Amino acid sequence: MSNVLNFNAGPAALPRPVLEKVQAELLDYQGRGMSIMEMSHRSKEYEAINTRAEANFKKLIGVGEGYRVLFVQGGASSQFATVPMNFLPPGATADYIVTGSWGEKAIEEATLLGKPHLAASTKEGNYKRVPTQSEIQLSADPAYVHLTSNETIQGVQFHDFPDLGDRPVVADMSSDILSRPIDASKFALIYGGAQKNLGPSGVTVVLIRESWIEKANKGVPTMLRYSTHAKNNSLYNTPPMFGVYVLDLVLQWIDGLGGVEGVAKINDAKAAALYNAIDNSGGYYKGHAEPASRSSMNVTFRLPSEELEKQFVAEGQKAGMVGLAGHRSVGGIRASIYNATGLEACQALASFMGDFAKKNG
Ligand SMILES: *Cc1c(COP(=O)(O)O)cnc(C)c1O
Repeated sequence: MSNVLNFNAGPAALPRPVLEKVQAELLDYQGRGMSIMEMSHRSKEYEAINTRAEANFKKLIGVGEGYRVLFVQGGASSQFATVPMNFLPPGATADYIVTGSWGEKAIEEATLLGKPHLAASTKEGNYKRVPTQSEIQLSADPAYVHLTSNETIQGVQFHDFPDLGDRPVVADMSSDILSRPIDASKFALIYGGAQKNLGPSGVTVVLIRESWIEKANKGVPTMLRYSTHAKNNSLYNTPPMFGVYVLDLVLQWIDGLGGVEGVAKINDAKAAALYNAIDNSGGYYKGHAEPASRSSMNVTFRLPSEELEKQFVAEGQKAGMVGLAGHRSVGGIRASIYNATGLEACQALASFMGDFAKKNG
């Protein structure tokens, strides 16, 4: 058994019990003599997975009737375009709150399709925090307001969402979906690629308010219309079956840990271990995010020099810790600690940080 501690940013660690179940079922799914990947997506076996995954996702995120869960392809990056395609009517405005690199990409795509309004940006200061309520300048009548709940690259997260009145709120939750309790009923649409907190890459989860689906623009190509996937229970065309199958197992695993409340307790302890290591280093480690906006999923920090950062990553790797190099666009160190990365891994990294600072301080 390998003892790698996986801090990859995405694709990222998957729960060990889920991987073991996948392995056990790979050659013979429920006595059918073949894997789930080799069956029809119209089979009763796959239909059971599809139905259970939708129900469990709704239960875990805490919505009931009035919402649909869709399993689509193209990653969160495709959602950057499909949201305005469907919900930014010609001549109307949509507001974007930008707190990092992914939010920038989202508004860029909207610019190809209409005239979005930058309602707030914390770019000045290099995305170290989320904006305060008073810094958010909404336009008069936006079709929707878009935000990124957790900026994966900068390590900046909304702990409380701003008050956006009754405007439809759209959130890219790719990197913190189902990592903590939220009031999902405040959102018209939530999306996320599965490969951080939910499963393998290849499936994108969309939670959408049913009453909003009908308000979509006309003339959107069939596959890019939310209504197509809602009407057909995500079975309009061949879905990413293996991805949804693993996602279903991950959702059951989260449920078994006490749902999002259960995983949030563990996630808070994990993040605290690493932020304490930063705060107790006498300034050796410098966190990127301001304390009030610190992400509980991506812990980003710098060392006194780039040379030491390289050494930190290399020695971490030798100690079995992988994925610690910061994103190529910002440098530094990033430890991604999604649901499937355990508390022990974070404690091991915190202790490694203490030792490294002592030796190289
Ligand atoms: C990873 C990530 C994306 C991009 O996801 P893809 O599935 O690769 O398109 C978008 N937004 C956020 C917040 C992310 O973390």
